[in-house]
Amino acid sequence: MKKVCLNCKEPLEGRIDKVFCNAYCKSNYHYQQKKEETTPFKQIDKQLKLNRRLLAHYNQAGKSTIRKEKLLSQGFDPKFYTHTWSNSKEQTYYFCYDYGFLPLFENDIPKFVLVTYQPQYMGALPDID
Ligand SMILES: [Zn+2]
Repeated sequence: MKKVCLNCKEPLEGRIDKVFCNAYCKSNYHYQQKKEETTPFKQIDKQLKLNRRLLAHYNQAGKSTIRKEKLLSQGFDPKFYTHTWSNSKEQTYYFCYDYGFLPLFENDIPKFVLVTYQPQYMGALPDID
């Protein structure tokens, strides 16, 4: 199969390791890639994944409590979450995928209780292909 330029899709001539036909195609391709990385969709997606990574990192026991400022200092942003679950005490847990947090105060210190999503207890997850 003949290789084509990553940018313009024209067949490539010459060196076997070439991926672009010229410098213009190379810089245009990288510019488009960069542009795609900064769409709102990508930015929100990145924040959600960072949130999940931090929740998972600080919740290796399945349930734990952490100071809110500690999570925020690492880039956690509680405005971004995927879904919620409320318990019988009307406390709302916010989830980033399968890891969740419940904001509360303990001795006037803002904290997050960290939990993992338990489908048998919190409700079945969507079954979409
Ligand atoms: Zn090209």
